[in-house]
Amino acid sequence: MEDAIEKILITQEEIQKRVKELGETLTQDYQGKKVLVVTVLKGGFVFAADLVRAIDLPLETEFMVVSSYNSGTASSGNVEVKRGVERNIEDTHILIAEDIVDSGNSLAFLLKYFKERRAKTVKICALLDKPARRQTEVPVDYVGFTVPDEFIVGYGLDYAEKYRNLPYIGILKRSVYE
Ligand code: IMP
Ligand code: MG
Repeated sequence: MEDAIEKILITQEEIQKRVKELGETLTQDYQGKKVLVVTVLKGGFVFAADLVRAIDLPLETEFMVVSSYNSGTASSGNVEVKRGVERNIEDTHILIAEDIVDSGNSLAFLLKYFKERRAKTVKICALLDKPARRQTEVPVDYVGFTVPDEFIVGYGLDYAEKYRNLPYIGILKRSVYE
């Protein structure tokens, strides 16, 4: 797998340290609150697995599947829920654990989704933020790292379903997808 990686952007140690810090911050911010961590599959699964173990609170977890696609014009992202959160969340603080904020379209959709279902609060914790690609502004409450406008893989992020199991985050060689 290493052959496909141009450069390691964030090492395993750097990720571990940052996730621990995020967990400590979230433990303080959600003290005494009923929190539901919602993971967006598939990309968020590795980050969420580490993040929930870094939060020292009696939290609960749910998993969602959404697919985003472009409706002809490249600028408008449509998002479809393939698997939603069915339980009642009216007395619950939602924390969305995402791998990366890219266009922002899927998270903008999810914020609306949970607000319509009357969650007490909805916040976003994203491991990575790629602001250069934003199409829809979304408030990202907790960010692990800001990354440049490159296609990256590892730690949950894929290219054609591969590389999710790399323990670090790396830039994929252009020769792999060009
Ligand atoms: P959005 O464009 O902000 O809606 O992000 C949609 C999804 O695209 C993210 O949750 C990721 O799973 C995926 N994605 C965005 N940028 C990258 C990347 O550089 N590598 C791998 N997946 C990405
Ligand atoms: Mg994702």
